[in-house]
Amino acid sequence: MNKYEALKKYFGYDTFREGQEKLIDAILEGRDALGIMPTGAGKSLCYQIPALLLPGITLVISPLISLMKDQVQSLNQAGIHAAYINSSLTENQITKALKLAAEGRYKIIYVAPERLETYEFLHFATQVEISMLTVDEAHCISQWGQDFRPSYLKIVRFLKQLKTRPIVSAFTATATENVREDISCVLGLKQPEILVTGFDRKNLSFAVEIPKNKAGYVLDYLKEHTEESGIIYCSTRKNVDTLYEKIEAAGIAVTKYHAGLSNEERRQNQEDFVFDKMPVMVATNAFGMGIDKSNVRYVIHYNMPQNLENYYQEAGRAGRDGEASECILLYSAQDVMIAQFLLESKEENPELTEEELEDIRERDAERLRSMNYYCLTTNCLRRYILNYFGEQGAECCENCSNCRKEFVTADMTSEAETIISCVKELRGRYGVNVIAGTLAGDNRAKLREYGVSSYKSFGSLKDLGEQKIKRLINQMLVDGFLVSTRDKYALLKLTDKADEVLQGTQKIVLKEPKEEPKHSVSQISSAGKRKSDILNSKGLEFFEQLRTLRTEIARQEGMPPYIIFSDKTLVDMCIRLPLTKEEMLAVSGVGENKFVKYGERFLEEIRRLTGGTKEKFYFGTLEEVEQLRGGTGKQKRKDWQKIEKTDFFVTGEQAGKFPYEEKYLAPELAERLNELREGEQVKKTSGAEIFRRIQELGLAGERYENGRRQKYVTEAGKEEGLWLGSRTSKAGTEYQDIYYDKKAQRMVVEWFVRGTQ
Ligand code: ADP
Ligand code: MG
Ligand code: ZN
Repeated sequence: MNKYEALKKYFGYDTFREGQEKLIDAILEGRDALGIMPTGAGKSLCYQIPALLLPGITLVISPLISLMKDQVQSLNQAGIHAAYINSSLTENQITKALKLAAEGRYKIIYVAPERLETYEFLHFATQVEISMLTVDEAHCISQWGQDFRPSYLKIVRFLKQLKTRPIVSAFTATATENVREDISCVLGLKQPEILVTGFDRKNLSFAVEIPKNKAGYVLDYLKEHTEESGIIYCSTRKNVDTLYEKIEAAGIAVTKYHAGLSNEERRQNQEDFVFDKMPVMVATNAFGMGIDKSNVRYVIHYNMPQNLENYYQEAGRAGRDGEASECILLYSAQDVMIAQFLLESKEENPELTEEELEDIRERDAERLRSMNYYCLTTNCLRRYILNYFGEQGAECCENCSNCRKEFVTADMTSEAETIISCVKELRGRYGVNVIAGTLAGDNRAKLREYGVSSYKSFGSLKDLGEQKIKRLINQMLVDGFLVSTRDKYALLKLTDKADEVLQGTQKIVLKEPKEEPKHSVSQISSAGKRKSDILNSKGLEFFEQLRTLRTEIARQEGMPPYIIFSDKTLVDMCIRLPLTKEEMLAVSGVGENKFVKYGERFLEEIRRLTGGTKEKFYFGTLEEVEQLRGGTGKQKRKDWQKIEKTDFFVTGEQAGKFPYEEKYLAPELAERLNELREGEQVKKTSGAEIFRRIQELGLAGERYENGRRQKYVTEAGKEEGLWLGSRTSKAGTEYQDIYYDKKAQRMVVEWFVRGTQ
């Protein structure tokens, strides 16, 4: 068996995802490997497939019992012998499992790090052939990570006690440089294949909202999304309890999870959520690590988390199946204080020196600050996240709340100067509220107490109003003209960059939303699609029938439904309408073992519902159905995403007015095109869309090199008039981007020409 056969036979997939193959190949060559990929990217497969092909046993170190259980269940479903050994088993069960393992019963064994140093386990490990040791959630080994677990250090000691050193592979979703280096050093990886894949999760949309009434916002949202499953994260137990009660009172099926509940309650509630009995989960960040539920359609953060690592991991639990999903953060200034308070009351590792602790506190404060700026920025949210993780992102993703808003920009350099003078005059002794109040000339008691009315700055930005002054201050913080101190007083100070403003070499522009966003998040077209975008209304009914069958099987087997088949697999069935075994095996996510277990029941149901013919039935758009049914099963996902129509168009007359130039970058081209369109009735196009299309035409592409997104032009692309040239970003870094000459510009314009009806 080779890796492709294993992929198809056990997992039912035809193609590897980005990065998977490279890591698998390295491991199969006997090399160590470090895979850094975002949540949902498919890290498990990178070690599970080699584990099947290597001669001996693979040990997987995993931090959480629930995580192990879920993985082992999935593997067993796929027909792979796997087991876990952790404290949820009795001593007897452990002895028995180790005995079976020693007899060669399991290819993959999951263990908790605490287990590694027990005599019984060590004895076992030295008696058998261990081909690979895999460390999942490997960032837990780093003291600089946001999730350090001292027990992970046991892995190093364990490795030293083995007679022969197995291949060591490690996986994490945390991308920061420090953590990456730590993993490699602490585990002693030997010339590992290090692979960082794109952190962009294209099927997720991002939004930051600042609602006056958060609970009201959540209730409205839930009422609009009754058919879907989602998680709402709160930062404290108390918030979880209060919100949970409000949602329950509104008659919505909801459950909750936090460390204050009993083990039994937590287990039960988690199960209710995973089994889709309770579609909505309100939880603290204690929930989710072990949850691979693939059909989570939204993750709402009721409070801002402490850092972007946590945020992206938690938000990333949405849309693991690749369908469009929403990540919404509900921000309020108070969240920053809660986060600060939680950091201050964080338990500190007693094994560390005061210096090291101080270092950790600094990093935590820095992380919190970046998180806060995420909530304040008016630029693309996706780009902000990607930059944070060391990747370049497109200027504008068109699928986040900032890219969807229309902004008006205004030059505020002179107002910024006034703010800077005020901070100077008040000698950096106050925070945002006092500074803004002073500039606005407010007369509240607190300000009188400080005696600010005697300052020259008092009331000097009266016309602007306090709220707008605050927004400008925030913008200046984000742009690095001001900093706030890291203590709870958050005093405003000037940076060196502020001088440049006074010297007139820096401009400050304030970008503010023009009006309400044009579309609500759910209406937006995006790279990933919802089943309701793919299936027509008959298709959705058909989907429900298959889902009912899935639920029935799940109940009988005591399994979560998504472990039987994912939503995506069911959608694929609705489109293809497989009537034979061969056709069923072509469905994405149907492997041989799953076919043996459930294939016939689904075939039977599909035959019954269609009367055994598929020609008359179209449960998706016609084009998609033809593409997928006509195809051999080799294409699939890719094709699926390609078929996308644009709402943007220009008339022939408008196209005639296009201002051709020697060269354009895609965003410039998009902008010129947007200027031609019919006001607000037509959706805008974007640089990203143009780039996507030239990618689809095979004229250009992008790949990851050293964790950076790198564009390239193909031979065919060069013929069409594309070339790669360097350009400098706003931040002053130089990178490669694609230019379009006149010929290429003409091609792009023509794509969008449509006759008027
Ligand atoms: P991670 O550990 O990186 O967060 P998982 O390993 O849990 O992600 O995988 C997420 C989902 O992606 C799973 O449902 C898995 O079956 C699916 N998946 C993984 N690899 C592929 C692939 N090559 N094709 C299709 N789906 C895949
Ligand atoms: Mg994982
Ligand atoms: Zn964006």
